Amino acid sequence: MNKVIIITGPSGVGKGTIEKELFKFKELKLALSCSMTTRKKRANEVEGVHYYFSNNEEFSRKIENDEFLEYSSHFGNYYGTLKSEVDQHILKGFDVIVEVDTVGAINIINKFNDENKSDKLISIFITPPNLEVLEERIRTRNSESDDSIKQRLKKAKKEIKQTSNFKFIIINNNLADSVNKIIKAIKGESYELQDKY
Ligand code: 5GP
Repeated sequence: MNKVIIITGPSGVGKGTIEKELFKFKELKLALSCSMTTRKKRANEVEGVHYYFSNNEEFSRKIENDEFLEYSSHFGNYYGTLKSEVDQHILKGFDVIVEVDTVGAINIINKFNDENKSDKLISIFITPPNLEVLEERIRTRNSESDDSIKQRLKKAKKEIKQTSNFKFIIINNNLADSVNKIIKAIKGESYELQDKY
């Protein structure tokens, strides 16, 4: 039975790096859901790979037509997971990784609970060892202004308080360890794991 795998956690925590590692395990048959956003495309981004880039009008129409599994807004732009995107991967026999912010993740968890489908969902929250490490990581990415770094850290603090909604809470101290824990979760070899500080 194919699953939806939510991976969330503060910006800069290393979700992208973990996902890159996970995709090396071809036998897991993983696909990554591409989100839709109204944010402007960055120079290095590719339509349909990083996001489906859209505008407010199209995004609003899709909200009205109930085409999103979840959506939320960040820093003035909309971001959402299209049901059609997730479904097409599931139909092809893949487990689908959905990387969203914590609000979106909790919306998906609630939706699956309401529809009695929580057995088809693996919810993973990746957390930094501490906020100093997170700040360091965001700063070394070097793509953010001071203001944006402050905004992201404020958001991170809020997000870290919401971890109790997730079956798997993984402190990303060591890439290989984090990846191993997630592989076990995907394979159903562990049902719950909450790393302790
Ligand atoms: P960025 O603009 O840096 O690509 O993403 C900004 C924020 O949007 C990040 O916190 C990211 O996790 C979140 N995000 C990306 N895609 C989605 C989505 O489909 N749904 C929700 N709720 N958040 C998303």
